[in-house]
Amino acid sequence: MQSLLPLLKQYFGFDSFRPLQGEIIREVVEGKDVLALMPTGGGKSVCFQLPALYLEGTAIVVSPLIALMKDQVESLKANGVPAASLNSSLPDDERSEIRRHCLLGHIKLLYISPEGIQAELNGLLANIKVSLIAIDEAHCISRWGHDFRPEYAQLAVLKERFPATPVIALTATADKMTRIDVVEQLRLSNPQIFIASFDRPNLSLAVLRGYGKKEKLAYILKIIRSLPGQSGIIYCTKRADTESLAAELRASGISAAPYHAGLPNPERSRTQDDFINDRIDLVCATIAFGMGIDKSNVRYVIHYNMPGSIENYYQEIGRAGRDGLPSHTLMFYSLADLMMLKRFAEDSGQSDVNLDKLSLMQRFCEADVCRRRILLNYFGEASEHDCGNCDVCLNPTSRFDGSILVQKALSAILRAGERIGLRMLIDILRASSRAELIAEGYHLLKTYGAGRDLPYRSWQEYIYQMIQLGYLEIDYHGSPTLKVTPAGRRVLQGEAQALLAVIRDPEPARPSAKEKKSKASAARTASEPASADASLVEALRTLRRSIAREENVPPYIIFSDASLHDMAQRKPLSLDDFTEVRGVGAVKLHKYGAAFIGEIRKSLGLDS
Ligand code: ADP
Ligand code: ZN
Repeated sequence: MQSLLPLLKQYFGFDSFRPLQGEIIREVVEGKDVLALMPTGGGKSVCFQLPALYLEGTAIVVSPLIALMKDQVESLKANGVPAASLNSSLPDDERSEIRRHCLLGHIKLLYISPEGIQAELNGLLANIKVSLIAIDEAHCISRWGHDFRPEYAQLAVLKERFPATPVIALTATADKMTRIDVVEQLRLSNPQIFIASFDRPNLSLAVLRGYGKKEKLAYILKIIRSLPGQSGIIYCTKRADTESLAAELRASGISAAPYHAGLPNPERSRTQDDFINDRIDLVCATIAFGMGIDKSNVRYVIHYNMPGSIENYYQEIGRAGRDGLPSHTLMFYSLADLMMLKRFAEDSGQSDVNLDKLSLMQRFCEADVCRRRILLNYFGEASEHDCGNCDVCLNPTSRFDGSILVQKALSAILRAGERIGLRMLIDILRASSRAELIAEGYHLLKTYGAGRDLPYRSWQEYIYQMIQLGYLEIDYHGSPTLKVTPAGRRVLQGEAQALLAVIRDPEPARPSAKEKKSKASAARTASEPASADASLVEALRTLRRSIAREENVPPYIIFSDASLHDMAQRKPLSLDDFTEVRGVGAVKLHKYGAAFIGEIRKSLGLDS
């Protein structure tokens, strides 16, 4: 098993595992079933690609989208791994050729669509040694999720056919229902479940409130100009906005294109292709865009409008910075967006759920506590530290030691047996004498009236903050009740201090021009990759683009942005030094090393 790390270096050019990769890979090579939950960009692919290289035979990888399969196969081939994909878009003779290679044992990873599995089950799959089975985007099997695909429901047959072969299911959707569904429907046997942190510290977070069309455009232009030649996505709710915004940006000299479900197919594929291959910088899109692409060097995602739920928001911003480099996200939020989304939610046929989700999204937008803490707590991951990379952290509202307020609230909740909701809590703190409170005997609690000096509205705000800071959580079973978390208990016991934000006016004044400027520059520093030498990176990027064009693959397949930045920092002058660069495996070393070293030498003035 010690030989796993050298394999990681040889084929992928990485020196160490990302969190959980090592653990997951060990389970799989020992023949066990695994469910892996990792955020976008967490490094799921290596979790089955490395075992596929380690184990004898061919790994079968099920993936829902042809574009995703193509991307991964190209990436593997670029690293010298024999891989192929079998799908309905290929002509018959190409498919036979791939089958032949598999039968000869030449292919280490075979990507197949779920329909393909049914078609090949008794033919090809019965006649090759299957080393492992990987089910990518495994949440597609669940009717609970948003991406349900009926073809996935038939994948249980794999475990019947290959009872002794390890199955690894992977997804970035972490909710419990989906998790249970995946395990049951794939008939995983006693699987170890790995849940990686959903934190994406490299993504900066910012929300701007109440900007009009013109102000948005000006702000967007400023961001784009601070990231020349970099890739970005702007999500709009309305199709018309994607078109008008793209036109306005083009008029300002930016290579942008619109993308939405109403455009003709050829135009949409061309736009997607141009974006993947770095021929255009920016796509203005409805949410339909981004699903099927693995592009790792998206440097910014902007929400022109507020998304309808935190899940959607997180998935969309997750398309930025998959390579781990600093990337920028920004959301514009307005009451008009909010009203429109409310109407959508009410008409959705699932209005309760959707309105709840929307109100959490709204609370995120209006928060004056660290936004990342809100997100992580929302996804059930306790986070006790401010992130330092969101607009609230960078531009903090003033804080005060609110430990006593927290202690009052938490102690009232515990004394009432954690059976009360928000309103009852505030009524206890403020010594209300309403009948229901008296009937429960809450007026006898020691904390009754302990917070009567503050108005109802202020308590409401502070308790929202306590939820957002992870001191309290809401239990939605039956009527919602408040529960004290372990982090809350630490404040209660005086072991931790709770810094609450001073309550702002409900409708804060528009930021002044000066304020906006300082916000913009804060956003810029947060999004600029820490590169030793920007012009060298630019030269390396140009070289990468020309090689990519020659080989007819997307530039990020040649090297990721992370590799280019590492190169610019290390400035390797020999092939020996070049092996140290992140993402340089044996094949890329020999194929591209000399060219990139040449560029570096040139930048140092070592060559004429
Ligand atoms: P996911 O499928 O979870 O979204 P990927 O498998 O596409 O993530 O990996 C995201 C990025 O992280 C890729 O650019 C990949 O090369 C990089 N990566 C994966 N594993 C490692 C590692 N151990 N060290 C450094 N980079 C890694
Ligand atoms: Zn923060």
